[in-house]
Order: sequence, then structure tokens, then C-alpha cells
Amino acid sequence: MADCIFCKIVNKEIPAEVIYEDDRIMAFKDINPVAPTHVLLIPKKHISTLLDLQAGDGGIMGHIVVTAQKLAKDLGLEEKGFRLVSNCKEEAGQTVFHIHFHLLGGRPFEWPPG
Ligand code: 5GP
Ligand code: ZN
Repeated sequence: MADCIFCKIVNKEIPAEVIYEDDRIMAFKDINPVAPTHVLLIPKKHISTLLDLQAGDGGIMGHIVVTAQKLAKDLGLEEKGFRLVSNCKEEAGQTVFHIHFHLLGGRPFEWPPG
């Protein structure tokens, strides 16, 4: 996707603080963190929103969640916990239309979200 900022990060056209990468997914620090730990996990292939997932995308999405668990442990979030969240479309707060999970930790979070 030519004008997608996260595809540009995948293609190394713009820099990011990458903390995990393999052939299918990438994790990097959010440029505007809202918690002491704020990591974004994305599939390398462009999928705009959760509504655009196809039946065959279960493997890659599962891989993202399992990797988020590993990173949470690596980043010291195991004891107190963390939040893993994905916003879908405008009303949920999605601003970048390439699927991503926010891995958030290092402070308490409220529920329900604002
Ligand atoms: P959303 O609002 O779509 O759920 O989350 C998008 C996230 O991407 C935001 O937290 C925002 O700070 C982050 N973001 C936007 N542009 C960039 C960028 O160029 N680099 C990085 N590392 N994060 C970005
Ligand atoms: Zn993209």
C-alpha cells in the first residue's frame, strides 16, 4: 500500500524503533506513547481494519497475539499485567488504517475505556 505509513515502516522507508520482526509480523515502539510501554504489533501484509480480515488470516493474527504475550514477558509486564487492544474504524479511535494491536503496560488502566 503506497501511502500507508505502517507499510512504509515494514519496507524501511521510514524509521521505527523495531523490537521484534520476522517474515510475517513486526513490533515497534509507538511514536506517541500513552504508557511507559507502548508497542505496536502489525502484520507485514497490508490489511486495513479488523473488518477486512479473511478466513486465512487466523494464523497471522494468532501469531501476533502469541508474540505480544512473549514481548509482554520480555518487557517485564508479566507480574502486573498489560492491555492488548485494537481499534477498528473511526468511532473506536483507529487513525492508521493498517491493522495493529497496541501493547500497553507500566501503569494502571481504567475500564470502561473513554
Ligand atoms: P490507532 O489510533 O490507529 O489505534 O493507533 C495508531 C498509532 O500509531 C498511534 O498510537 C500513533 O501514535 C502511532 N503512529 C502513527 N504514526 C506513527 C509512526 O510513523 N511511527 C510510529 N512508531 N507510530 C506511529
Ligand atoms: Zn499498510
